[in-house]
Amino acid sequence: MGKGLLIVISGPSGAGKGTVVGKLISGGDYALSISATTRSPREGEKEGINYFFKTRDEFEEMINKGDFLEYAQFCGNYYGTPLPYVKQMLDEGKNVILEIEVKGAFQVKEKCPEAVLIFLAPPSMKELEDRLIGRGTETPEVVAERLARAMDELDLVDDYDYVVVNDDVDEAVNDIRSIVKAEQRRAARNTGINKKIKGVD
Ligand code: 5GP
Repeated sequence: MGKGLLIVISGPSGAGKGTVVGKLISGGDYALSISATTRSPREGEKEGINYFFKTRDEFEEMINKGDFLEYAQFCGNYYGTPLPYVKQMLDEGKNVILEIEVKGAFQVKEKCPEAVLIFLAPPSMKELEDRLIGRGTETPEVVAERLARAMDELDLVDDYDYVVVNDDVDEAVNDIRSIVKAEQRRAARNTGINKKIKGVD
């Protein structure tokens, strides 16, 4: 796609993706893609800020129209990344963050091999469970389902480009900033720089 960097951040529910991504975008250096979902809004969640909330029919119509860069089902609901915003931001040279689950992440890698896939992992399953229960936004059944899902997701770490363990939020944010900086310095992402330096552009 465009000139910006497409950064995918995945990780089990409760790994702290929301907090880490919130800190990353607060610096103004990144554009965050807002997903569409058929999940019901949690208390405090707002349309167009946290998600675009859709019915299953609406979501399936968007799938049929080819509106998504990727989409997947997670614990019984659809989640998907609307393509136009991501494309526009990348074309404008902005770095775009997608906070999505594993199946969607691999669809992105297949469509955009230059995307950078980062897995945000919890320090341990015990810590993950404590965070999910402490959050208090899900029923015990949903917590159990998400923990089971986390066990499966952790086995896919090897297919990511980077793994960051979220023991300390600020450290995790710094790690991701370092990864992005290194990726931007890849020679393959800077073709033509020799001509620019020589002044023969
Ligand atoms: P939650 O219900 O906790 O907001 O999100 C559940 C999972 O869906 C999280 O792992 C989150 O990263 C993922 N997710 C959110 N938006 C998308 C999306 O657009 N596509 C995919 N594939 N996963 C998403």
